[in-house]
Amino acid sequence: MSDCIFCKIVDGKIPATKVYEDEDILAFNDINPARPVHVLVIPKKHITSLATVAAEDGPVLGRMLAKANEIAVAQGSPDGFRVIINTGRVGQQEVPHLHAHIVGGPDPVGPMLKRL
Ligand code: AMP
Ligand code: ZN
Repeated sequence: MSDCIFCKIVDGKIPATKVYEDEDILAFNDINPARPVHVLVIPKKHITSLATVAAEDGPVLGRMLAKANEIAVAQGSPDGFRVIINTGRVGQQEVPHLHAHIVGGPDPVGPMLKRL
């Protein structure tokens, strides 16, 4: 999609610090990291969100998750990590190109959600 910021990263039109890439997925450092390790993993194909995946997207979603540990370890989170996929308005997704946040580092990342 031409006006999508993450598609532009895939196409090399805007820069990113890439940490992993293959035919189907790309991983790069979050520009505003919330933890010492904060990587975004995206499908190269534009998928808006988890709310809009098609049955045929299963393999690429699996690949994003299957690569998460390797990426986390390589980036300095050897002892686990958290994966977050914000989805839509309620999930407070800001960038409408599906992405998994991989957050971690040497220390535990903290509580999952602030309780209401
Ligand atoms: P979300 O709220 O789940 O949509 O998260 C979007 C994430 O994208 C935020 O953590 C931003 O810091 C990150 N982000 C936005 N623009 C860029 C960019 N050009 N390069 C890397 N990360 C970005
Ligand atoms: Zn896109």
